[in-house]
Amino acid sequence: MNTIENKLPDAGWNFDNSYARLNNLLFTELEPIKVNDPSILFFNKRLAEELSLDFSDFSKKHLASLFSGNQLPVGAHPIAQAYAGHQFGHFTMLGDGRAILMGEHLDDQGRRWDIQLKGSGRTPYSRGGDGRATLKSMLREYLISESIYHLGIPTSRSLAVSLTGQSVKREALHKGAILCRVAKSHIRIGTVEFIRNFLTTKDLNQFCNYVITRQYPELAGTANPPLELLKKVLELQTELVVNWMRVGFIHGVMNTDNTSLTAETIDYGPCAFMNNYHPNTVFSSIDRNGRYAFGNQARIIQWNIAALAGALIPIIDDNEETAIAKIKEVINSFSGLYEEKFYQMMAQKIGIAKPTSEDKNMINQLLNCMKNNEMDYTNTFRYLSYQQPTEELLNIDEFKRWEMNWIKRIKTEGTPYELMRESNPSVIPRNHLVEEVLDQAAFENNPQPMENLLETLKNPYKELPLDNTYGKAPEGGDDHYQTFCGT
Ligand code: AMP
Ligand code: MG
Repeated sequence: MNTIENKLPDAGWNFDNSYARLNNLLFTELEPIKVNDPSILFFNKRLAEELSLDFSDFSKKHLASLFSGNQLPVGAHPIAQAYAGHQFGHFTMLGDGRAILMGEHLDDQGRRWDIQLKGSGRTPYSRGGDGRATLKSMLREYLISESIYHLGIPTSRSLAVSLTGQSVKREALHKGAILCRVAKSHIRIGTVEFIRNFLTTKDLNQFCNYVITRQYPELAGTANPPLELLKKVLELQTELVVNWMRVGFIHGVMNTDNTSLTAETIDYGPCAFMNNYHPNTVFSSIDRNGRYAFGNQARIIQWNIAALAGALIPIIDDNEETAIAKIKEVINSFSGLYEEKFYQMMAQKIGIAKPTSEDKNMINQLLNCMKNNEMDYTNTFRYLSYQQPTEELLNIDEFKRWEMNWIKRIKTEGTPYELMRESNPSVIPRNHLVEEVLDQAAFENNPQPMENLLETLKNPYKELPLDNTYGKAPEGGDDHYQTFCGT
């Protein structure tokens, strides 16, 4: 019951729910399913401020009631979005099976933010699932997405995690939780695939115009807006993947439904950071063929963009052959673009502002050396950036030879160390630490270690002493580490 006493205070929401005004085949209107005994576990005050929201009048009960979906703010228009997608290469119908888009909030700068509750109960898109999420998986998304943000990489953010007070059955019983996530949009390549497969060409056209108006208004007056949208998504997704490669991030489940048209990192499931460099690194238990391995992410994003292109064909040109020729040209531009951006990024990691083809060889030699000698990705670049020697590195002859050449090379660069320190993090959420703090928070009622790790991850480009716990690579690397499709 909504009595006057427990009415939510005003946090300054400014909802404008444009998605809920679209064709109603694109979503289902429904409320989150109420939970028994909500409580708030993590609340991201800094993010709330960035969104021009003020929760200072909220008690813990109010926060719990809001972020569990038990009470929605005035102006919210809850919907579950329909989408489809290619999962491990196979097309399927999907949709928000355990998420509700509360609405779109406009902050004081006029920026539009999707405010979503994840783990909020069954929807018509749940298929066999229970619509719920375990505490550990929601904390994992909170921790890693915030870390990705502070690494300077586009991503959905995490505003709060609340406990539902109900258990969730997986391989065992777990505490249930709800994550409030915030993103520029939750529009996916899979959303476009859904429209292409199940709705009309007119719907496709309208939706494409919607995405352009909402996110890329500069494309509106161009000769072929759908084609320009394709190029834009290709460019931004290329930059996103290059950023992942920069910090050793493996998304783990780059299905087209997990690839955002706003090119933010979304859907943190089995993602993880690599310790020792190897392009074949895979942590996800369900990725048996390494489709989403670290070194495959570029190829896969091109595949996903091709799926987007295929879905856009009818609105790119009335003549199918012409449309195909146009999209082929865009898809084929990927390799050159990726290579350019990749080597530019890698060059910066070794203090070179503009790489020559000789420098590309030097980069490849370093990557090979790291692979051959099972070197820690983060700490190798951290060593080069701060010249803090570790015994392991100095004992590798191949690396010592490479370093001598490199030192000669960067003598002609203006400010190599500054350049390197901007792009080489000292600290990433290492798997052994992530598991440790998540287990403490989820199973031992002790969220403090996670808070501490989060604090450190907020300044990833600050120099850390060599023996700092958060900066150390685990003994024996990540040999047997596995992640699960976090449900
Ligand atoms: P994901 O692997 O998280 O990208 O999810 C793939 C699809 O499964 C999406 O449509 C999700 O909404 C749905 N899904 C994942 N977990 C659950 C769950 N516990 N209950 C219902 N649907 C789920
Ligand atoms: Mg997903």
